[in-house]
Amino acid sequence: MNIIFLGPPGSGKGTMAERVGKEMKLAHISTGDILRAEIKAGSELGGLAKSYIDKGALVPDSVIIDMMRERFKQDDAKGGVLLDGFPRTVAQAEALDSLTAIDAVINLEVDVQVIVNRVIARRVCEQCGCVYSVKTHAASDCSKCGGKLVIRPDDNEQTVRERFRVYEEQTQPLIDFYAQRGIVSNVDATMPIEEEAAYIIDILNTEKI
Ligand code: AMP
Repeated sequence: MNIIFLGPPGSGKGTMAERVGKEMKLAHISTGDILRAEIKAGSELGGLAKSYIDKGALVPDSVIIDMMRERFKQDDAKGGVLLDGFPRTVAQAEALDSLTAIDAVINLEVDVQVIVNRVIARRVCEQCGCVYSVKTHAASDCSKCGGKLVIRPDDNEQTVRERFRVYEEQTQPLIDFYAQRGIVSNVDATMPIEEEAAYIIDILNTEKI
């Protein structure tokens, strides 16, 4: 089974994708995580990506498509994938069609003001990438590995609003792209995390994909 998670920045895509991926034994592939790892490693791709990410802009399609073509060659992608943050443009969705068939699209819906409040409160472990909210985790270190919690450079209000604008302009058209195939399920992304994960798993199981 191959699934796409769509949703604006701060919709909880990453958290949900990780939980659902684990439960359904699918490889969780996050383009944002891959790009951040490249930045951390100081690679050429990372250097290029950083200039776009810091502005809240999208990394060019050709770069992302080449990166994903390589990612899909890895063994874990053969048993089914849960795509988080890809595709983000129609050109990427068309390229994805040549890599694999998509069975379901989970579209996470949430209002922009809720997103701004969430993203400003987001903290990420600089060692393991684990995500927290200062609203529920006041400590400054990671409870899993003890790493320091930091603010993602693109998690400031101005960049978040720009990422939301880019999402509406470039990624929202994908909802129609996949709705025409009858495979989109809309999910209210303001539910408590456990409830939302169970709801999504239920959708995917009952659709018997
Ligand atoms: P995310 O972690 O999914 O919020 O992604 C963080 C940033 O990485 C985005 O704001 C983009 O700059 C970049 N990015 C991630 N995935 C893609 C993609 N599929 N296409 C273009 N840029 C991407």
